Amino acid sequence: MPVTGQRRRPAEPTRRGVFVIGGGLLLAPAVAVLLGQDRTAQSVAPRPQARAQPPGMEPASTPPRPPGWMPGVLRKPIGKNFRRGGRSGQQGLIMHVQEGEGSLFERFSDPSTRSSAHFWVSQAGVIEQYISVHDRAWTQGAGNVGWASLETSGFASKPLTTAQVASVARVYAWGAREHGWPLEVADSPDGRGLGTHEMGGASWGGHACPGPIRAGQRDAVMRRVRRLSRV
Ligand SMILES: [Zn+2]
Repeated sequence: MPVTGQRRRPAEPTRRGVFVIGGGLLLAPAVAVLLGQDRTAQSVAPRPQARAQPPGMEPASTPPRPPGWMPGVLRKPIGKNFRRGGRSGQQGLIMHVQEGEGSLFERFSDPSTRSSAHFWVSQAGVIEQYISVHDRAWTQGAGNVGWASLETSGFASKPLTTAQVASVARVYAWGAREHGWPLEVADSPDGRGLGTHEMGGASWGGHACPGPIRAGQRDAVMRRVRRLSRV
């Protein structure tokens, strides 16, 4: 669980509804007006030519994936409760236990919690990503600089489900490929690999997280990562 845990508050209305198509359409005339005013300015740099599209058609290509975001998972940027950049390197991934169930998007979007993690994995194996791994999440105190973080839904008294083991392995295999996380289990803040919140001790918040049952499943996760990494 995150270092800065607080009492769960009632869920706030989601802000996802803000990004309605109508808002974009309203902006379009304003942009056109600005471009029109620029016509007489000599210092305006040439703009790249927009690809011609038949009226009403979407561009053929999808926008490029921003760095540090995993493909094929639910991308839910929280926009707060983290620091842009601020990573010293990529030592690996820290596994946490939520001590609860359900997506952490709303909680991590609430500025009063001052806590976050890069990833969350449901008991059914659904993966949500809230922060680019190039940015610093607020999860494990002094361990936020060198390590990415992943919350697992459920409780320390219960093992990760088979689906969770598979999904944690997917996240780790991506990190190994993209960010050089080594294919091993880590047991020290100075090490590298798949570690636990508990291994950081007091400077990481002094949590017994994710508990011995889930910490002991890291070997099974890593065996799966190695299989994924061979293909
Ligand atoms: Zn934790």
